[in-house]
Amino acid sequence: MNGFPSGPAYAPALLTIDLDALAWNWRFLADKAAPAKAAAVVKANGYGLGSTPVVKTLAQAGCRLFFTAHLGEAIAVRGALPDPEIEVGVLNGLLAGDEDAYPQHTLFPVLNDLSQVDRWAAYCAKNGARPAAVQLDSGMTRLGLPAAEAESLAADPGRMAGFECRYLLSHMACADEPDHPLNAAQQERFAALVPRIPHTHAMLAASSAVFLGPAWHFDYIRPGVALYGGRPNTLAPNPMRQVIKLEGKILQIQDVDAPQTVGYGAGHRVEEPGRIATIGVGYADGYLRSLSNKATAVLHGVSVPLVGRVSMDLTTFDISAVPDAKVGDSVELIGPSHTIDDLADQAGTIGYEILTSLGGRYARRYVGGPQ
Ligand SMILES: *Cc1c(COP(=O)(O)O)cnc(C)c1O
Repeated sequence: MNGFPSGPAYAPALLTIDLDALAWNWRFLADKAAPAKAAAVVKANGYGLGSTPVVKTLAQAGCRLFFTAHLGEAIAVRGALPDPEIEVGVLNGLLAGDEDAYPQHTLFPVLNDLSQVDRWAAYCAKNGARPAAVQLDSGMTRLGLPAAEAESLAADPGRMAGFECRYLLSHMACADEPDHPLNAAQQERFAALVPRIPHTHAMLAASSAVFLGPAWHFDYIRPGVALYGGRPNTLAPNPMRQVIKLEGKILQIQDVDAPQTVGYGAGHRVEEPGRIATIGVGYADGYLRSLSNKATAVLHGVSVPLVGRVSMDLTTFDISAVPDAKVGDSVELIGPSHTIDDLADQAGTIGYEILTSLGGRYARRYVGGPQ
């Protein structure tokens, strides 16, 4: 075994995380983007899968550049990395007062506005030159220097003289919709600024934009969700390997032979004789309540519908189509035949939210990866 944590004892559900599939996904994206290089985004605890096993696996696969959202996450990632030369950046920006933590933990900040640029330049003038990244907002209106600030910086690059701008980056808003006109517009705005702002490497593409084509790759790609099995877009079959499998045990089966209702709010009515199985997974585990009466799962290879409302710790499925099922059998809630995106579609959300909602009550089994 690889020694990664296994979660609470006696859990009624098992989350299996395939670290070899994760490594395969990173290599697949890196090959696709070559000659550009591939970083990895491991924010939100490695998209819910556990940042330590995720980072150790990706570092062993060859990844030398990681990004988190928060400084605290980056400190944890640094602690998991064997090699101090591997770089870790913080996407959410340089908060006033946090400056010292960056050299202390060998991290670099992503500077998202001119005041952060000036503050890091002043800090470096006093304490010695340090690396940083600068993020430009090319059309998302979220984080990064807005167009006017990017113009000011291009006109006066001396403002960055105190530090080393290792990465110049921007982020795409609609790359999961390959035909969206903003894709070309953002690429053009970013490409126009790249030669005008001093930097070592330029990067634009997260998972989806890797699949828009080489014009979006620049020097580095910066994927997150596709590493964890998420689909880059809905136009083509998902080329990524599934990384997680979630199986819940049947706690009880009830034979229903007269019309009656199931669950809170009497949210489902059984009209025909049938069997209802109760699983020990609920919305407190991140199995979203919006899946009520919408999800399916796989039992003995058969797709079975979720009936009634998802409750905090329990969910009910109509297993009439699987007469030989018994208490203790596993229902596949997420897996190769029912992916994170399939479940997300049923919940009316995206695979990212399914992953980052995965709860702490599952037993976790990490397979493959570094030994
Ligand atoms: C989350 C994030 C990524 C990774 O995005 P995915 O769609 O998960 O690949 C890359 N860059 C930035 C700035 C992000 O916030």
